[in-house]
Amino acid sequence: EVKRDPKVQVARLKLPILGEEQRIMELVNENEFLIVAGETGSGKTTQIPQFLYEAGYTQHKMIAVTEPRRVATVAMAARVGYELGLTSKEVSYLMRFEGNVTKETKIKFMTDGVLLKEIQSDFLLSKYSVVIIDEAHERSVYTDILLGLLSRIVPLRRKRGNPLRLIIMSATLRIEDFTENTRLFKEPPPVIKIDSRQFPVTVHFNKHTYSDYLKEAYKKTVKIHTRLPEGGVLIFVTGQQEVKYLVRKLRTSFPYRKDVDYSKLITKKRPVSEADAALDSEPDDIESDDDEVEKEMKRAKKARRKAKLIAKSLPKINLDDYDMPDDDGQADLVDADDDSEGHLSDSDAEEDGLSAVIKSCRQPLWVLPLYSMLSSSKQSRVFAAPPPGARLCVVSTDVAETSLTIPAIKYVVDTGKKKMRVYDHVTGASAWRVVWTSQASAEQRAGRAGRVGAGHAYRLYSSAVFQHECVPHHPPDLCRRPVDDLVLTMRCMGIDKVVNFPFPTAPDRLQLKLAEKRLETLGILEKIEKVNSNKRRIQDDGEILKVTPLGKAVSAFPLLPRYGKMLALSHQFGLLPYTIALVSALTVQEVMSGKPDSWLATGNTLLLGDPGVLLRVVGAAEYAYVKGEEELFCAKYGLREKAIKEIRKLRKQLTSEINLSIAGVDVTVDPEMKPPDDNQARLLRQLVLSGLGDQVGRKIGLDEVKEGEDKRKFKYAYHCGELDEPVHLHGMSILRKTIPEWVVYQELYETGEDNKKMIMRNVTA
Ligand code: ADP
Ligand code: MG
Repeated sequence: EVKRDPKVQVARLKLPILGEEQRIMELVNENEFLIVAGETGSGKTTQIPQFLYEAGYTQHKMIAVTEPRRVATVAMAARVGYELGLTSKEVSYLMRFEGNVTKETKIKFMTDGVLLKEIQSDFLLSKYSVVIIDEAHERSVYTDILLGLLSRIVPLRRKRGNPLRLIIMSATLRIEDFTENTRLFKEPPPVIKIDSRQFPVTVHFNKHTYSDYLKEAYKKTVKIHTRLPEGGVLIFVTGQQEVKYLVRKLRTSFPYRKDVDYSKLITKKRPVSEADAALDSEPDDIESDDDEVEKEMKRAKKARRKAKLIAKSLPKINLDDYDMPDDDGQADLVDADDDSEGHLSDSDAEEDGLSAVIKSCRQPLWVLPLYSMLSSSKQSRVFAAPPPGARLCVVSTDVAETSLTIPAIKYVVDTGKKKMRVYDHVTGASAWRVVWTSQASAEQRAGRAGRVGAGHAYRLYSSAVFQHECVPHHPPDLCRRPVDDLVLTMRCMGIDKVVNFPFPTAPDRLQLKLAEKRLETLGILEKIEKVNSNKRRIQDDGEILKVTPLGKAVSAFPLLPRYGKMLALSHQFGLLPYTIALVSALTVQEVMSGKPDSWLATGNTLLLGDPGVLLRVVGAAEYAYVKGEEELFCAKYGLREKAIKEIRKLRKQLTSEINLSIAGVDVTVDPEMKPPDDNQARLLRQLVLSGLGDQVGRKIGLDEVKEGEDKRKFKYAYHCGELDEPVHLHGMSILRKTIPEWVVYQELYETGEDNKKMIMRNVTA
């Protein structure tokens, strides 16, 4: 009884997946698990929920569709509702802080995190007849955990005579992670591959790889628009700020005016040969036939050098405060990554060397932004045709890689970059870094140009970079996260046996076990006797690890649990700002290049040891920074300026994340933070001990040194845990002055080849 708009019907019939409806539905009816693999744009997300709806799967229960990205959750719910002729009451979406689900909802799009939350209150997901895990190839942490849980929930539902179906949808990438993993699925689920019309895409590499990829993207787009035939352009950059910047710049160059009728203005561009289409990219031994452009470029180079000189003397604008990450699961965290700020000056507007070409081009470019935090009404504009006479150009983050298919794209401009969350292995603090995409991502991006006809993809980096810098695939997020943090997160979700969990790609088991042990030592998990209620499943040895109240508090902090614990316990006596500064400083290596200056070793600094030195350094450097004397200050005291800047960034990021994630907390970064008083210093020492209490050293007495050994070698030597060999105070440790009996340390490491020695870094008495 579905009544579809005739326009929708026409568009649907073009999708190859429609011819497979019967086969897909047979497989769904006969199997509990099904994998659907198909190229982006083949119709998986928009069509399969409709097939299920028409086959009656929503008569008694709902269909759940999970997306790793917020942007797709909203857009796809709207599209499926529209195609089915239903309202948002029936085809709805739900994500953190936002949604339009009603009692009548039949198809429910949601972020993967939301479904995980639902499992915590209804383990069997009894509201649903089918769960579709979409974009499984993205391998987000939540999607991976969902897959593990669902592999167990589905058989449980069968036993209760109330079957649930799981459909895994993915781009055609690494399906074997799901099919060849017998811990996940004992029998590999059937796989259905959806063929799609994909036209050939010619890939062009740049000869050189320039660090200013935004400028390159701009130049390439100008060339495409002024020299190549009709067809939409899709540009991949890394984040919202970059999208906005490029949109602004391109709109200024090729403005669209409402009062002009461009339909008669379309400039006749010459038909293109392969050489033309190469647009100065590799392979490009052919003389450019566009001398004008080349000359302009040379003139521009001069202007650019001049602009750079000017730029150097201008104050830097800090973009931290309003730069949001594009990662949807983390959408409410502030992105402190300001690596891109260098691109965002407009001083180079003139230098692109293309001003003559731009001026002579009268065709407007219809430039639209696309990123996850964009309002849904603005997002949907990318699906509409541009006004007559204008060329479509979408500037997007990686959401356009597989999540959303933009119609009528013929040219892809790929910076080769994306933003990735990178974790510090010692503290677990994370930051958004711009990194090279994987080769697989580059292929996906290029593929976007071949949906409507033969297309071109311009990679703004060399083929050598592609081969040597781009990894084939990035490892799944779950495997990049520090394990302690993963174990705690999963335990907070109520998953008892983290070590035995059927991960699609499992982290190292030994590491998981060690993490559990550490968390127990720190009082974040505790063993409880086995209980025979249905609610708790029993662990083999009759004990299960439960998250303590402290552990619950700790899990709210975006750090490894041991540092989270320090923060959780410092919510008193005004200690939080100190702990934040301290943890930030502990995350950065080699802050000082020489022995600490004497002013650093006075007062209660010695009580806190090396972290105390760091704390004073951070406080004083921040003060110097606001006075504009940071550079001088760093030089005077032998501090690494880059490290100081890094600490500042982390401190800000941590401060805002903590304000966001913990109710009732409102901390600020105070540039005039006084050094801690004696009482605070004593408490801070206890905090350091509370977090590092499993990393203890005891001084080796000189009477313990064996006969014949050189006693001098043991001056700074300690016993440490189960290690046989002695460990030593770091050469720059302030505690060499006092050599205390008992110490805790942040990290142990081994020194170079010839004179192997175990060294303790950042030591507190
Ligand atoms: P897949 O999930 O396999 O990548 P989709 O189901 O997302 O494919 O897309 C199928 C087709 O529907 C694509 O051609 C896409 O451009 C089109 N489409 C999706 N959403 C919209 C929309 N809001 N407006 C117009 N076309 C859309
Ligand atoms: Mg899809």
